[in-house]
Amino acid sequence: MTATLELAAHRLGPAARRLRDEVRGFLDAEQAAGAFTPRSDAWMTAYDPDFSRRLGERGWLGMTLPARYGGHDRLPLDRFVVTEELLAAGAPVAAHWIADRQMAPSILRHGTEAQRQRYLPAIARGECFFAIGMSEPDAGSDLASVRTRARQVDGGWEISGTKLWTTGAHFAHAMVLLARTDGDAGDRQAGLSQFVVDLPADGVEIRPIVTIDGEHHFNEVVFDGAVVPPESLLGERGAGWKQVTAELGHERSGPERLMSTVPLLREWAAKVAVWEDPVDGRELGRLTARAWTLRQLSLSVAAALADGRSPETAAALVKDLGSRFEGDVVETVRRLAGTEPRKGELGIPGMLAEGVLHAPAFTLRGGTNEILRSVVARGLGVR
Ligand SMILES: Cc1cc2nc3c(=O)[nH]c(=O)nc-3n(C[C@H](O)[C@H](O)[C@H](O)COP(=O)(O)OP(=O)(O)OC[C@H]3O[C@@H](n4cnc5c(N)ncnc54)[C@H](O)[C@@H]3O)c2cc1C
Repeated sequence: MTATLELAAHRLGPAARRLRDEVRGFLDAEQAAGAFTPRSDAWMTAYDPDFSRRLGERGWLGMTLPARYGGHDRLPLDRFVVTEELLAAGAPVAAHWIADRQMAPSILRHGTEAQRQRYLPAIARGECFFAIGMSEPDAGSDLASVRTRARQVDGGWEISGTKLWTTGAHFAHAMVLLARTDGDAGDRQAGLSQFVVDLPADGVEIRPIVTIDGEHHFNEVVFDGAVVPPESLLGERGAGWKQVTAELGHERSGPERLMSTVPLLREWAAKVAVWEDPVDGRELGRLTARAWTLRQLSLSVAAALADGRSPETAAALVKDLGSRFEGDVVETVRRLAGTEPRKGELGIPGMLAEGVLHAPAFTLRGGTNEILRSVVARGLGVR
């Protein structure tokens, strides 16, 4: 029998609207003071640790963490509102993004008390940044075939292997590492474990990978017999697969999977309003309708997560539709704006250049769309 998606529409209440106004006021003031220039894909590329610290001071990082770990006991949907506003403004959030989105909930759930005390308050202050070490050469989508090995030795765990496409490892204070502790590659999901590795560390070499736009966000991280202390193990030995797939729920379902190019869309919308060209108006209307629908879906997924459910199928679907929308924004503006992309320029030319050069990655990062479609097919019982 084929299942259907169960996703109730959700509306934010007046408290969320007040919070949204507060965040908008802060972002307008920051922009007016010249603290940032809006960018497309800012959540992955625009690194500004001072901006992250200012968000921490406002209580807009670690929002859902308990107060005893430096958090603010806020609702997940409050965090959703802040996240949306930061993305829509193209604010420089890349420094803290992975720590706040993914590692804080993971450490809260699986970490020891010592790990929680060590990392969570610093994440909430915007002073502890993280990188994710899942991908490997020759593993990629087939995450269960990772070959990085962690061997128990005197003094902790000895790690050898190579991680690839590790966003932000060059500025991160720590990375979460997926490694094989037991069995061999044939054992697939069994025998994988997670570690929190403080950076930089002896025996860990972080090599930059420069992207087509000349920027440095990615790295290759080589572990050559690095020894980390016993307390680096995150969660249960051998439960790494279960922990990682739960973490991917946080990574895949957020509004960043549909809003990377919204700053470009907004910039173009402001111009279309002046030009009053009917073709531009129609295309802008189509994109706006899609943005609104996707945003409602993303909000419903967030509401389901907030209710303690795990809407894995819906989250995968939203990421597939959302990341294709992000690319379509770039393509439409490129076709209709009558402006050449020019890297480093203000406004449409600069954001368009970022969009054109980054678009190939939209449907890859966080799990490729082909893989997500098989998650959806399995979830609906048609595979
Ligand atoms: C911008 C960006 C940031 C990233 N940041 C990080 C990070 O911080 N940390 C991290 O660990 N990783 C990161 N990654 C890596 C990312 O998660 C991987 O690129 C992704 O999982 C795909 O792996 P791969 O590149 O090896 O492609 P492959 O797995 O080799 O896939 C190549 C193609 O084959 C298709 N394919 C593979 N298997 C199947 C299948 N079974 N059925 C159908 N099609 C299939 C894929 O969909 C894809 O189109 C990042 C990637 C990008 C682009």
